[in-house]
Amino acid sequence: MNAYAKPEGARPLISLVVPVYNEEEAIPIFIGAMRPVLDSVDENWEIIFVNDGSRDTTIDVLRAASVADGRIKVVDFSRNFGKEVALTAGIDHASGAAVVPIDVDLQDPPELIPQMVEKWREGYEVVLAARSDRSSDSWAKRVSAGMFYKVMNRMSSVPLPSNVGDFRLMDRCVVDILRQYPERQRFMKGLFASLGFRQATVEYVRPTRSAGETKFRPVRLWTLALEGIVSFSTAPLKIWTYIGIVCASFAVFYMAWIIMKTLFMGVDMPGYASLMSVILFMNGLILTGMGVIAEYIARIFNEVKGRPLYIVRERIGSFDDDMTAPGHTAGRVL
Ligand code: UDP
Ligand code: MG
Repeated sequence: MNAYAKPEGARPLISLVVPVYNEEEAIPIFIGAMRPVLDSVDENWEIIFVNDGSRDTTIDVLRAASVADGRIKVVDFSRNFGKEVALTAGIDHASGAAVVPIDVDLQDPPELIPQMVEKWREGYEVVLAARSDRSSDSWAKRVSAGMFYKVMNRMSSVPLPSNVGDFRLMDRCVVDILRQYPERQRFMKGLFASLGFRQATVEYVRPTRSAGETKFRPVRLWTLALEGIVSFSTAPLKIWTYIGIVCASFAVFYMAWIIMKTLFMGVDMPGYASLMSVILFMNGLILTGMGVIAEYIARIFNEVKGRPLYIVRERIGSFDDDMTAPGHTAGRVL
């Protein structure tokens, strides 16, 4: 039985979690579009904006919105921590029976929420919003995303659906489990996917941004992709054993060949070129292998330091701390 059938106390029915970074223009449009949709489902909702260290007037816009409507709440970060962490903070602070992470730029259409709630009402614990096409993304993003999902799904034991983003509805029971995941380096899509539960899907066509421009530069996407692979697969670590074995076997044969040749045909000095290429090639391999190991060690280092995942500068609006106190071991509210 999910939390729809068994709401607890005065908890809101739906919490939207919205990470925002320099989105002063998009926020009023978002709230304007969202309010009637949410009201049509149930007036008992909350929107939690996480201001991810914006450098424009985003925080003032949010403050005004929160004063005007108490159901709008704000978690203000001390600096930019990235969308994944902002989502985590929002989920930590959400008290609804269902939690819906959503982008502020209306690329995740509000009209989908009633459909998601409908599925949730039927008893599904997770309702995914799947894009039926990616035509609103740039060509480069489509190709790189396609490659990423192919590699990712080959390497990791958790299948990652290629057409769903962070936009989804999660029942309270799923959220409570998600909040127990302690890792600091987070790839939310993968974490979401690894939880399981009864899942339903609703389809939509992803529109283009309502205002402002994308916050994800290619470097950021590359970092995110690397994060996804490294946090959900150890294949890149293990493969070095096999590369090593193949190279070593090759070297043994080559050595045998050289010994035989020297025995029967004597020593010949030329061989500088082949020697150099073997040395350079092997060094390249070793450095690559070390680089991969370093990626993992860097992550272990970050986990072990145990620093807070995010730092909240200020919270605006009323939060129910019994229900929402940063369950996240690394979260800290100052
Ligand atoms: N975002 C964030 N922190 C960041 C970058 C982005 O909170 O460091 C938010 C952004 O405000 C938006 C959402 O993440 O609400 C998705 O960003 P965007 O629309 O730029 O990404 P895209 O849709 O192009 O993938
Ligand atoms: Mg967007």
